[in-house]
Amino acid sequence: QRDRLRDFLSERPVLRHGVVDSKLIVLAGPTAVGKGTVAGYIRENYPDVLLSVSATTRAPRPGETEGVSYYFVSDEEFDAMIEGGELLEWAKVHNAYRYGTPRGPVDAAIAAGNSVLLEIDLQGARAVRRAMPEARLVFLLPPSWEELVRRLIGRGTEDAAEQARRLETAKLELAAQGEFDYRVINHDVGDAAREVVDLMEIRAASSMS
Ligand code: 5GP
Repeated sequence: QRDRLRDFLSERPVLRHGVVDSKLIVLAGPTAVGKGTVAGYIRENYPDVLLSVSATTRAPRPGETEGVSYYFVSDEEFDAMIEGGELLEWAKVHNAYRYGTPRGPVDAAIAAGNSVLLEIDLQGARAVRRAMPEARLVFLLPPSWEELVRRLIGRGTEDAAEQARRLETAKLELAAQGEFDYRVINHDVGDAAREVVDLMEIRAASSMS
């Protein structure tokens, strides 16, 4: 039944698949769906994929590392990046902080023939679609709305007001899933990561001969 659901959900992508040869994959999806976890899993297990490191004006959370999780910058530094044309896209997310994709590493990786994964929000995905129509857009879905709420509350990184704000954004984001080329349901992080990487037509380092 899950396969039939997936066939149904990926009807449009199948038509695109094979026609467009893109090295750029955009992974978006609602808050707490596990985008960061899936992206992290890909970074650990598929070293041939460049995981783009975004710049952000928000403060680091405990355990986050400068240059790995994000480049943590001031508002002034972010303004300078925009003015210098250094960002492929940027957006204000959850009506709070700004986040943007540095253009240089993405261009360099694509020029070298490597695959690049951007883990960004819906506005960013739309901006990439406009800037680079050949990019493949993947929407990560929770198994259910209840599960999404459970994951958001369970991770405990936001207070109640912020959780409510993110769930409102999540409703809007879920409504936009039809704009995406592919939808992947995040039941299990390894399975979801494999599905995303399969879209790049590359194999895991461990399975290469
Ligand atoms: P968080 O603050 O939880 O790390 O991220 C909040 C949101 O910002 C997530 O939805 C994430 O996908 C999004 N985000 C992270 N980096 C970028 C980026 O470079 N551009 C855009 N548009 N969104 C981003």
